[in-house]
Amino acid sequence: MKFGTTEKQSTRLNGYKLTLSSNFFIYSTRAWQILSNAYKQEKSSSTFLLYGKEGSGRWLHAVAFTALMNCENPQDTGTVMIPCHECRNCLNIFHLNFESLKIALPIPPHENKVENAIDLTNEYIALKKDEPFAVLKASKSTNISIALAREIKKSLGMRIEGNDTRVVLFYKMERMRHDSADALLKMIEEPPAKTIIMLIADNIDSLLPTIQSRAQKIKVPPVKVEDIKSYLLDNYDLTEKKAELVSRLAEGSIGDAIDLIEGSSEDGHSDRAVNFLLFKSLFLDTGAETLSRMNEMISARDKSIAIDLLTLWQHLIRDVARYAVTSDEAEISNIDFLSDIRSLSSYFNRKNLASELAESIKFTLADLNRNVHIQGALMALVLKMKASIAGA
Ligand SMILES: [Zn+2]
Repeated sequence: MKFGTTEKQSTRLNGYKLTLSSNFFIYSTRAWQILSNAYKQEKSSSTFLLYGKEGSGRWLHAVAFTALMNCENPQDTGTVMIPCHECRNCLNIFHLNFESLKIALPIPPHENKVENAIDLTNEYIALKKDEPFAVLKASKSTNISIALAREIKKSLGMRIEGNDTRVVLFYKMERMRHDSADALLKMIEEPPAKTIIMLIADNIDSLLPTIQSRAQKIKVPPVKVEDIKSYLLDNYDLTEKKAELVSRLAEGSIGDAIDLIEGSSEDGHSDRAVNFLLFKSLFLDTGAETLSRMNEMISARDKSIAIDLLTLWQHLIRDVARYAVTSDEAEISNIDFLSDIRSLSSYFNRKNLASELAESIKFTLADLNRNVHIQGALMALVLKMKASIAGA
């Protein structure tokens, strides 16, 4: 299975570039306000827990805060303090090339030597260097290396470079084994002088209560549709119309939006991720969102796109229904949607739901092969499925 966005991102413009400026959206979040206040209060030894959806900018908040703490010429926007983006420290930090910034993130299983862990970690850090909003796919077997975490802990005993404020960033803290996290408890509770610990997690409930209670919790909000759209148009090669569509589908995550662009075909958007989001919206949307999105995406002639969509839905229903019964992740075939499948499974407590949905799809597929009006058939299907889901 794929881990991380390892293939070349063909639609990325100009390789890596920094489009951050004082009006960049992360500087107007409440999360940044809190970090800016911490800076003003000269809290140079503390632990923060940044949580929220992956791809919504938790990473960039942490990196920008590292820059602010080490900036030679910090700027006051009138409401918050921000790093200058121009001094040597800012440039090194935003390029993730700064001696006093230590990073650990989940990596696949490897030979248990710290050199291997460092190599693998650097490989995944490179993905974030290229695209700070990139979503790093983590499976059950990926973990933050305890060997590396220990190495980092040890390095905190060493002298700090010049006047630096040291920052230790643990990305996807929920992917650290609990016994490993326990071993870091003291460091998290009371970081050494001039040391900031930044924990990043999807949600706080997945972390040990002892970790939660020792950090200042800061929620990083979902990114607004218009901010996602302008980020995509600034950094990726895509049409206005497509930027609009993926921004709305991405549910607040620039990382997800990027995956949607990378995965979709130029004309029809007939990719897995979009089709999955439409499936999810059957359950989560109360209004007519799903219908209007599907109308936009599938024109009257795109029979193969409609068939792709429904085939994926069939597989997903099988996965979710099976997981609802067994709670066994090994039974899931669409492993890339694992966490969503897990959360959707609660809808499948009603026994007949899976067979009702599967039946409806089967009839629609048969209709499509008889060349009925594609959009009409899909609209009717969505209404029927939503009614089943609502328990009618
Ligand atoms: Zn600076």
